[in-house]
Amino acid sequence: MNYRGPYRVRVDHKPMPEILHPQDAIVRVTRSCICGSDLHLYHGMVPDTRIGHTFGHEFTGIVEEVGGAVENLKPGDHVIVPFNIACGKCHFCRQGLFGNCHEANPQATAVGGIFGYSHTAGGYDGGQAEYVRVPYADVGPVRIPEGMDVEDAVMLTDVVPTGYQAAEMGGIARGDTVVVFGAGPVGIMAARCAWLFGAGRVIVIDHIDYRLDFVRQYAPAEVYNFRSLEDPVWFIKKITDGLGADVCIDAVGGDAAGSALQTITGAKLKLQAGAATALVWAINAVKKGGIVSIVGVYGPTANMVPIGNVLNKGITIRANQASVKRLLPRLIDHVQAGRIDPKALVTHRIPLEEISDAYHIFSAKLDGCIKPVLVP
Ligand code: NAD
Ligand code: ZN
Repeated sequence: MNYRGPYRVRVDHKPMPEILHPQDAIVRVTRSCICGSDLHLYHGMVPDTRIGHTFGHEFTGIVEEVGGAVENLKPGDHVIVPFNIACGKCHFCRQGLFGNCHEANPQATAVGGIFGYSHTAGGYDGGQAEYVRVPYADVGPVRIPEGMDVEDAVMLTDVVPTGYQAAEMGGIARGDTVVVFGAGPVGIMAARCAWLFGAGRVIVIDHIDYRLDFVRQYAPAEVYNFRSLEDPVWFIKKITDGLGADVCIDAVGGDAAGSALQTITGAKLKLQAGAATALVWAINAVKKGGIVSIVGVYGPTANMVPIGNVLNKGITIRANQASVKRLLPRLIDHVQAGRIDPKALVTHRIPLEEISDAYHIFSAKLDGCIKPVLVP
C-alpha cells in the first residue's frame, strides 16, 4: 500500500524489501489487518506520516529469507509478527517493555519501533503489502502453533494483547466493575479479557449499535449507547451506587475524525471534534482511588486530562502501547484453550488490491464492520 495523504491510500508496485542487517528477515505476508491505529494515520493525525509510507502493523507471514545472524527462524516458518519492533536487549526491552524499545526508535519522547506507523515510530514500512522486512527477527516473531487458524494468529499481533493489557493495567480485583469506553476490536477484546482477571461486572459504552450488539454477546457485557444517555458519567455513577466504576478503560483514543468528541457545557454534552471525550469520561466516571487504563492512542502532545479530578480523587492512570511479545505465550494458551476467540471479530476479508475501499469501510464503520482482514 502507498499512503498518498489524508484519506488517500492505494496499492502500488514497490521494490522488493531486502535484508539490510544480519538480524533481518524478509516475510511474505499471509494476512494483514487494518487497525484503529491505522485510522489515526489515515486521518492525517500522526506527525511525520510521509507520502509513500506503507502502513500495516498487524500481520502474519511466511519467512522467505533470513540474515546471517538470525538463529530462531528459517525460511518456510509461518509466523505471528508482533506490532512492536524491539531489539530485546535495551534498558526497556529488558523490563519487558517491548513497546518502548529504545534501539528500534531512539527518540526519547516517542514510542518504540512500530511497523508501518510513520517516522514517529521509526519509519519502518509495514505489512499491508506482499512482503515486509522484519528487523530483529529473533526477538519478535513467534511460529504459529500447529492447528491455529491464521485469523486467530493475526489477531495475536495486536488486538488480543492490547485488549488483554488494557485489562491487566486496570489492576482488576475480583468482583470489580469495569467500564470500557469504545466497542471497536480493542474495546471488545478488553471487555472479554476483563473477565479473565476476575471482573464482576463489565460495561461497554459506544455509539455504534451493531458493535454494542456484538460485544453484548461476545464479552458478554452490559452495553449502553452514549447518544441515548444525557450524561454518561452521571449514568455510570447512578448504576454503581453513586461511587463510580472500579476501573475505566479508554479504548477510543484521540482521533478527532474517527471519534465523537465532546466539550462539557454545564451538565450538557456537546459533541464536537477536538477533545478527548472518552478519556475525560473515564477519569470522571472512575471511583475515588480507582484506576484508568489507557490503550486508546493520542497524538504525542495531546493534553486534555482534567488533572484536578485525577488529584482530588486519587486516581491512578496507566497507559502504554501493548507489549505483544511479553504477553504472547499466555495469550496463545488462552486462544488454544478457547477462553478467547479472536477470529470471531473478523467481519471482512478484503483483497489487498481493494485497500482503499477497505480503509473507507473501516473508517466510516460501514456494513457492520468490526475487523477487516486484508488478503494479499
Ligand atoms: P475502532 O476505530 O474500530 O474503534 C473505536 C470505537 O470507539 C468506535 O467503535 C467508536 O464508535 C468508539 N467511540 C468513539 N468515541 C467514543 C466515546 N467518546 N466513548 C465511547 N466510544 C467511543 O478502533 P480499534 O481498532 O478498536 O482501536 C481503538 C483504539 O485503540 C485506537 O485509538 C487505537 O489507536 C488504539 N490502539 C492502541 C494500541 C496499543 O497498543 N495501545 C493497539 C491497538 C490499537
Ligand atoms: Zn493495531
